[in-house]
Amino acid sequence: MIILLKDKVDEKQVKNLTNWLEGIGFQLHISKGEHKTIIGLIGDTSRVDMDLIASLDIVETVKRIQEPFKSANRKFHEDDTVIDIGGRAKIGGGNFLMIAGPCSVENRDQIISVARDVKASGAGMLRGGAFKPRTSPYAFQGLHEKGLELLSEAKRATGLPIITEIMEAGHLPLFEDVDVIQVGARNMQNFELLKELGHCGKPILLKRGLANTLEELLMSAEYIMAGGNENVILCERGIRTFETYTRNTLDLSAVPVLRRLTHLPVVVDPSHATGHSYLVKSMALAATVAGADGLIIEVHNDPPHALCDGKQSLTPAQFQDVADCVRNVLPFRVR
Ligand code: PEP
Ligand code: MN
Repeated sequence: MIILLKDKVDEKQVKNLTNWLEGIGFQLHISKGEHKTIIGLIGDTSRVDMDLIASLDIVETVKRIQEPFKSANRKFHEDDTVIDIGGRAKIGGGNFLMIAGPCSVENRDQIISVARDVKASGAGMLRGGAFKPRTSPYAFQGLHEKGLELLSEAKRATGLPIITEIMEAGHLPLFEDVDVIQVGARNMQNFELLKELGHCGKPILLKRGLANTLEELLMSAEYIMAGGNENVILCERGIRTFETYTRNTLDLSAVPVLRRLTHLPVVVDPSHATGHSYLVKSMALAATVAGADGLIIEVHNDPPHALCDGKQSLTPAQFQDVADCVRNVLPFRVR
């Protein structure tokens, strides 16, 4: 349920109302927008008298929210959420963020050289997996702690903030220097992990599961937000369909649908969505114009010899071209 307050209201009366609502057991989500203040109620709202609240002087209207996601709902928070990434980058609202880097951190030279190249092309954050969710237990699993150390080194060398994937909550102490924690597609509904990330104090990039609906994605974001962490970035990375020419099927309509349903930033990953480097540019441009708040793109210094996802990785020169073209279409974003 949301309570929309009148334009100029007495703060004391607002405090009385919020104290009363908290006193009867609701968790409140207060959003002060440019024009409106909205109080969102989380809890069993079937037991409140809507007419009583609507009759208060300071209240403009009271509405029930049908959707099961509350904190993530745009009805709770009209303006786009802007997430500050360690004071080094921003995403959301007018801030478009390009995230780039290898699928996996492989060695010092690789990660530092890719970090320098993608930064020079305009990326605002470096990606690189240290704990890799691989289908085969015999495939390269990532460098683990060593990978995180090398990512930190790349951060120090370039000033770029870093994002990397977490696979279990017990690893959180290792992620202290990580700026954004990624939850991969395979863990989108690992609810215990999501709950832990709800109080880790860092922004989370939450990828859509291989076979999950947008509502399920938003409910997973809700798990993180319910723990007090409102800094969630949603990521469309393709879903599994019957098509085999592409690794997944990029659901581009997810971008405007999510932007309508939620205030959280939405990024698109054209690399995992397509599985082929030749498709990354067209999908990156389409995603940008569709209204995405950012892109996450795999870039490798030597794609044919990459230990993971070489087929879909761009060379630094290809990334430079994509980044230039993305900047050119930014004014045409449909928002
Ligand atoms: C990744 O980003 O390297 C990754 C494994 O992605 P996803 O979880 O989308 O498959
Ligand atoms: Mn990958």
